[in-house]
Amino acid sequence: MQNLTKKILIALVLGVIVGLILNFVPDNVFGALDTYFLNPIGQIFLNLITMLVVPIVFISIALGTASLKDPVQLGRIGGKTIGFYLITTTIALVIGLGLAYLIQPGQEGAFNTESANYEAEEAPPIMDTLLNIIPDNPVSAMANADMLQIIAIAIFFGIALAKLGDKTAGLYKLLEQGNEVMMFLVNVVMYTAPYGAFALIASAIGDAGVEGLQQMLMYMITIILALLFHALITYSIAIKGIGKASPIHFYKNFFPAMTVAFSTSSSSGTLPVSMRTAQERLGISKSVSSFVQPLGATINMDGTAIMQAVATVFIAQVYGMDLSFSQLVMVVLTATLASIGTAGVPGVGLIMLSMVLQQVGLPVEGIALILGVDRLLDMLRTALNITGDATCAYIVDRSEQKKNEAAETT
Ligand code: ASP
Repeated sequence: MQNLTKKILIALVLGVIVGLILNFVPDNVFGALDTYFLNPIGQIFLNLITMLVVPIVFISIALGTASLKDPVQLGRIGGKTIGFYLITTTIALVIGLGLAYLIQPGQEGAFNTESANYEAEEAPPIMDTLLNIIPDNPVSAMANADMLQIIAIAIFFGIALAKLGDKTAGLYKLLEQGNEVMMFLVNVVMYTAPYGAFALIASAIGDAGVEGLQQMLMYMITIILALLFHALITYSIAIKGIGKASPIHFYKNFFPAMTVAFSTSSSSGTLPVSMRTAQERLGISKSVSSFVQPLGATINMDGTAIMQAVATVFIAQVYGMDLSFSQLVMVVLTATLASIGTAGVPGVGLIMLSMVLQQVGLPVEGIALILGVDRLLDMLRTALNITGDATCAYIVDRSEQKKNEAAETT
């Protein structure tokens, strides 16, 4: 694993260099290289890991739920997890808004807003997302990789396994073995990660263009600072204060998973790797990790929330519109819902941004301004998204351990 992380890091650096060089080759040469070389390699890697996601989410949540035999414990872990996710997402939004006001990345008139064109894709109404959590057809939920629905089926399945106990021991064993197979496949697939990471980053940087990057520098810097702040301050305080553990130890061990999230821009896609890293390197128990991380990869997106906060203020500034305090509160509320509704795949955070903009009456076309650099920021925010999930799993696991120890000594 150590070795693999090194290889991925080298691949990322090489990818950045090649991506920058590609900015200076003629467009048609870049186009051909991208279509026939970079894109296929990146896509193969993405497909390989995404192929494992649906079975892993189902198996791990069903097993995780079944192993929490006591319903009180299941409720307690569920409550702590959702509480942690909501609080950290709100903090992320406040950090994003605060920094955007401090740095003021968008100057009125700095961009040509006349020609900004963006066809807003319909963000699903939040009520529909909530109502659809219980699927009417489990097979189609799996076929469509609808994560919230798969999580719901898996929780029901896990509860049934726990209740039926010995009667379904065979099925439980089967799931355990299925889990072994999945983890083995994750290991195998990870050997291709350096190549995939190289291709994906070179293509993203080649695509964004140096000029585009320069113009959007302040916007990017604001987001990057907010992401760093949240990772280094909020999560570290949580790990140290609540988890009574060392943030350095946490980051050192979880870093490999972050590099994969960075290259794939997909929380769901990275889930197999982030769960394995959390269990093997951070020692988080399987039952907690299997429950908390898949749920987080689906509903907890602090990095996405930060992007949405900064983007909203940026667009308001560029269009010369002032946001009132009540509009800012609205941003926090809708962006929390938007990040819950954001699927853990590349680029969806930007689509969900249209929901936030519409809520506060900002022009959705503003998204066109940030579109060019979003691919790169997506990589960074996804790394933060999965770190939030792992932080939560780490803290919940430690608090459960303490509870068990206390119960044993009394
Ligand atoms: N790519 C992000 C993720 O998978 C979601 C987004 O912000 O677009 O976590």
